[in-house]
Amino acid sequence: MREAIQTLVPVENGDPGEDAGAEDCSFMLAQRLSANSREIVRLFAILTLSLSAAHLGVMFVLPHLGVGHGSVGHVVGGLMLAAAMFPILYFAVVRRLAAKNKALIQREHQLCLSRNQLESRVAQRTAELKHSMERLQAHQSEINVLGEMTRLLQASHSLAEAAAIARLELLRLLPGLAGSLYLLNASRNLLERQVAWGGEIADKELFAPADCWGLRRGKAHVSDSGPGIVCPHLAERDVSWHVCIPLAADSDAIGVLCLQAAEDMSAESAERRYGTPERLQFYETVAEALSMALSNIKLCEKLQHQALRDPLTGLYNRRYMLDALERELALAKRNDHPVSVIMLDIDRFKTFNDTFGHDAGDTVIAAAADVMTNAVRQSDFVCRYGGEEFMVVLPQASPAAAAGIAERIRRGIENLAIIHQGQSVGRVAISAGVAGYPDIDSDHEGLVEAADQALYRSKRNGRNCVTLAGTTQRAEEEVERLPASA
Ligand SMILES: [Zn+2]
Repeated sequence: MREAIQTLVPVENGDPGEDAGAEDCSFMLAQRLSANSREIVRLFAILTLSLSAAHLGVMFVLPHLGVGHGSVGHVVGGLMLAAAMFPILYFAVVRRLAAKNKALIQREHQLCLSRNQLESRVAQRTAELKHSMERLQAHQSEINVLGEMTRLLQASHSLAEAAAIARLELLRLLPGLAGSLYLLNASRNLLERQVAWGGEIADKELFAPADCWGLRRGKAHVSDSGPGIVCPHLAERDVSWHVCIPLAADSDAIGVLCLQAAEDMSAESAERRYGTPERLQFYETVAEALSMALSNIKLCEKLQHQALRDPLTGLYNRRYMLDALERELALAKRNDHPVSVIMLDIDRFKTFNDTFGHDAGDTVIAAAADVMTNAVRQSDFVCRYGGEEFMVVLPQASPAAAAGIAERIRRGIENLAIIHQGQSVGRVAISAGVAGYPDIDSDHEGLVEAADQALYRSKRNGRNCVTLAGTTQRAEEEVERLPASA
């Protein structure tokens, strides 16, 4: 009956599509059926009231108006017949309409469910797409920072500078993680921490390469509070989550990058947030960029060292020294402070070579270089000028102070007891000449020449002594040069 009446009355609810889910469709259907029930009640009430009114009219009102029972009786009879025909008409005609309406409602319900499912799927896909876009943007941002870090590292002039840059950039690149960067020392038997960031570090400051499973395996190694193997270089063994990523260039290990969660959290949480295969792969990409940049800097430093240093003594070479003197002299003139130069030459060096061989000569040169390096200040420059000749540049030192240092060197070398292949090479002595600005007001070449002249005066005066150059002596010294073989 409810469905039949539905075909006769308008739908009184809103658009069912605005709510999602089967519950909404059921709710909408219930609303519609409830509206139909109300219409049925209303229809029967109208029908009952009409019949009652007709009946009352016939029984009480019409007789007073003088209307006969005959014609009214026919009308009333017709109405009664119509009322009696209503159920018959309903079952004959309206029921078919009701069946169609029921099918329509069911189809509408199905459509509503399908639409809701579709909308739900669209919403799900939209959320996935949004998440994917966010991840892509985050990844792009990481790639940008990584690129910037690589460019800055490539422009670095030293490992210390590169390590400081790496610290700043890794803080940006790996939020939520603390870390430390280790490099192998020259002897390759120790990893030394260069920088650390992000909080308290669980790793020791120094450790042997064998103490890191990441280095031993040549791949990222995770240490956590689980049953797995924990790297022995972790000072705090109960760290919840920690990863070591080896740094290598051309299959040659150069260090290790250690990362850990910056804040306290369970191993499971840290693993979920920082230890996914995708994140580990990203850390390896970062380590690879670091490795390439640091390896290049190490190589450049090595080449620079070789270009500037004498291989036997480790002292600066002549070219570097002349550049340094020119720079220091310009600074001295601008700032009105002194700068001095000491020229030194090992006395009778040729006899060491002739008597004990060239290796013994090299031993003497190396021992003399050690004495010089230990006698000067950290700000001074010592160089092997050539053969057995040396030069020292002393910024902000007066000629008199430089002469004092030259005398200290002379005594130190005089007191050397050099043994070569189990045999003493005898006493070693050195002569020195000292010149300084502003006593010698010249360019750097003039200053070197003045010190050189003073050196030859020491040779002429019996060797194993120090001579201070003076402006009044310079012309005389230029004439009285000793042979180069002195
Ligand atoms: Zn490790």
